[in-house]
Amino acid sequence: MTPQSHAETLAAAGLDAADLTGGDLAVRSPIDGAEVARVRTTDPAAMPGVIARAQAAFRIWREVPAPRRGELVRLLGEELRAAKAALGAVVTLEAGKIVSEGLGEVQEMIDICDFAVGLSRQLHGLTIASERPGHVMRETWHPMGPVGIITAFNFPVAVWSWNAALALVCGDPVIWKPSEKTPLSALATMRVLDRALARFGEAPEGLCQLVAGGPEVASALVESRDVPIVSATGSTRMGAAVGPRVLARWGRPILELGGNNAMIVAPSADLDLAVRAILFSAVGTCGQRCTSLRRLIVHETVRAELTARLARAYSGLPIGDPRLEGTLVGPLIDPAARDRMQAALGRARAEGGTVHGGAPVTEGVPAGGAYVAPALVEMPAQTAVVREETFAPILYVMGYERLEAAIAMHNDVPQGLSSCIFTTDLREAETFLSAAGSDCGIANVNIGPSGAEIGGAFGGEKETGGGRESGSDAWKGYMRRQTATVNYSRALPLAQGVRFDL
Ligand code: NAD
Repeated sequence: MTPQSHAETLAAAGLDAADLTGGDLAVRSPIDGAEVARVRTTDPAAMPGVIARAQAAFRIWREVPAPRRGELVRLLGEELRAAKAALGAVVTLEAGKIVSEGLGEVQEMIDICDFAVGLSRQLHGLTIASERPGHVMRETWHPMGPVGIITAFNFPVAVWSWNAALALVCGDPVIWKPSEKTPLSALATMRVLDRALARFGEAPEGLCQLVAGGPEVASALVESRDVPIVSATGSTRMGAAVGPRVLARWGRPILELGGNNAMIVAPSADLDLAVRAILFSAVGTCGQRCTSLRRLIVHETVRAELTARLARAYSGLPIGDPRLEGTLVGPLIDPAARDRMQAALGRARAEGGTVHGGAPVTEGVPAGGAYVAPALVEMPAQTAVVREETFAPILYVMGYERLEAAIAMHNDVPQGLSSCIFTTDLREAETFLSAAGSDCGIANVNIGPSGAEIGGAFGGEKETGGGRESGSDAWKGYMRRQTATVNYSRALPLAQGVRFDL
């Protein structure tokens, strides 16, 4: 079947000539390199006005009862359900994800909306026993203010929704600065949101704003004291530039940065499961997930068998147009990503690695896209290139003999996002999850490192930035905690027995 044209995909998502033409930012589809739009960027000089509108919206929105705020997010979830196919197709067009992953990304948006709606009736604090008679102590969570949301190209819509759904029920307006590589997915999302806002009917103007451009536009959010929270998703380099500047003006950064995720495969592992998990997490999304599997640490007794099985599977991967049924590996985001992948493979060879696959693919794929064969690289040790995140489908394979050594190798990288072990030995599994085990924010047993559910808190340690988003109590990152003590007695006892009587 001939896939839908880019123009049809964009029109189906409600984008028209006013969105797609007359701007200064050229948008290309990684599918075939075609220029699909010229989007207007936001003048950095307009950013103070954007932020002032968000502040004005905040003063109204913070007083709307949280369950009522949840109603807006419920409507957003409904509109996303209706728009799932159209929005997923824009994600495929602009980020190059295969159809099922584009749809999955929109499903993730729907899931976080559902989660946030329930949460809007559960923003609860504690009551705490006071040491003073006639006193009560409690914690209350209050809205915090506008949230700046800076997102990466590889999850062009889901990451906004993780932040926005929580921020909106928490009483915070949002200002979204999407990746300059994926502004159309953001514009299409705003169309869906507009329908939810229209049905809701009483949201303040400026509650949800979109700005377009690169770091110069994001900088206004990073620098402004009127944006108390900045949630930034992207490379460690970006986080290193953004985090300290937000802290320097006493803002709260939520950083979701690069990963270098590993799997330990133990002697008792179910290799059938492991092979499937490795394929999805190492070659899925063409290796362009923050949680993609990049390092395989395999026990020497199963290393040869597992590597041979993977080499066989890698040689038959369906690489090609992500819009076509049956494709599992779409394109890299752009030619620069392909060049970085080739450079990393060159370094791996120089550091003693044996590379299987990894070459650019030009046959049987749309011309103009940066298609590659995923690479399997046998390494003699965890060398310098292995310790870096290369945002491409490269899987480094290393051996181990003792679990302690495997865990030490696992943790000996600067990043700390996601991790997993394949084992059927309870002792090994629990050791991996223990305080002496994986040092990552996410640690799985018999599941690959990618494809998290929204119910858990998502994020990682070390150079991954320490932020948490999505489920569990991540909502607390979007609110301020107030500890209140109320004295309903006729005396004024001081805490700790201090006497201060005239
Ligand atoms: P990137 O760092 O190039 O860009 C991300 C965003 O940051 C973009 O919107 C960009 O305009 C902005 N930006 C870049 N430099 C900036 C600066 N100095 N000041 C302000 N804003 C700036 O990342 P990318 O290539 O779009 O995405 C891939 C990276 O994102 C990978 O490292 C991946 O691991 C990471 N990522 C992490 C998570 C996570 O949750 N931990 C999720 C998705 C992607």
